[in-house]
Amino acid sequence: ALAEARAAHVPIRHDVSAPGAHEARRIAAELRTAIAEDQLFLAYQPKVHVRRQEIGSAEALVRWQHPTRGLVPPGDFIGAAEDGGLIDALTVWTIERAIADQGRLQAAGHDLRIFINISGQLLGDQAFVETACRLITGSGAKLGFEVTETSVIRDPSSAIANLQRFADIGIVIAIDDYGAGLSSLAYLKQLPARELKIDKLFVTQLTSSNRDPLIVRSTIDLAHALEMEVVAEGVETQAALALLTVMGCDMVQGFLISRPISLDALLLFMEEDGHQLVSQDTRATFNA
Ligand code: C2E
Ligand code: MG
Ligand code: MG
Ligand code: MG
Repeated sequence: ALAEARAAHVPIRHDVSAPGAHEARRIAAELRTAIAEDQLFLAYQPKVHVRRQEIGSAEALVRWQHPTRGLVPPGDFIGAAEDGGLIDALTVWTIERAIADQGRLQAAGHDLRIFINISGQLLGDQAFVETACRLITGSGAKLGFEVTETSVIRDPSSAIANLQRFADIGIVIAIDDYGAGLSSLAYLKQLPARELKIDKLFVTQLTSSNRDPLIVRSTIDLAHALEMEVVAEGVETQAALALLTVMGCDMVQGFLISRPISLDALLLFMEEDGHQLVSQDTRATFNA
């Protein structure tokens, strides 16, 4: 019976989760054009330092303005880019844009670090690592890389060595989506990471669940014991922010403070609200 159930289930699960090889190839081909023709852009979501009440950094989230399909979210094309051999080109594009945008922020007097999401696959790609280091070294840009722990599991020794190289040239490493994937305390201890981002899975229901506050509090304590700063992603309510503050969470990010916005909107946000971010006024203005 068990074998029968397995036989019945495996293909069904596969069909539901995978977009299909043909579909992935089509997306990858279109994405190649999108990179060449400047159809991609970056949206920035601020990370706010709770105690200092200021924006310390912003995360760059890629978007695709497709000529016929409209705005395509990254969840619909990052997987195809990884499978289609395009994630390196896409990420190099992202790094170049982030360096330019970071320069614009600096020029406007805003000392913000820009964090870029780096697919795990790239941590084992030496050509990518060389290109990224060459672009960033000497650019003067303050950057950070967000990586998931799962991305280290494939080839831990080379991933850890490459992360160390990035850290050595001043890139701040953040562990993304902590708790959502295959979290291993063994890797957590070895990664040269300065930030740990608690996945929004544990944050969006923080004040309506019994267990999430316990998980979040123990994760904050663990990160602090390892001398990392903690970022909560998916902060949507004032109640969640209040609880995270009491728990000693260092930084928050979420729709409560701001959705991902254009660079111009981020510059405006900094001009108008730079130092009193978590005020009612800010939220009313920017989340309207
Ligand atoms: P992520 O890095 O964990 O980014 C957080 C996602 O949560 C973003 O979705 C963001 O818009 C969303 N989010 C932020 N605040 C809230 C909130 O308060 N509530 C809720 N419900 N959601 C919130 P997005 O922009 O669709 O990005 C999805 C994922 O795509 C990212 O997850 C990241 O893993 C990936 N991604 C985005 N840009 C890039 C990129 O340039 N390269 C790579 N490799 N991956 C990227
Ligand atoms: Mg991220
Ligand atoms: Mg995340
Ligand atoms: Mg996440």
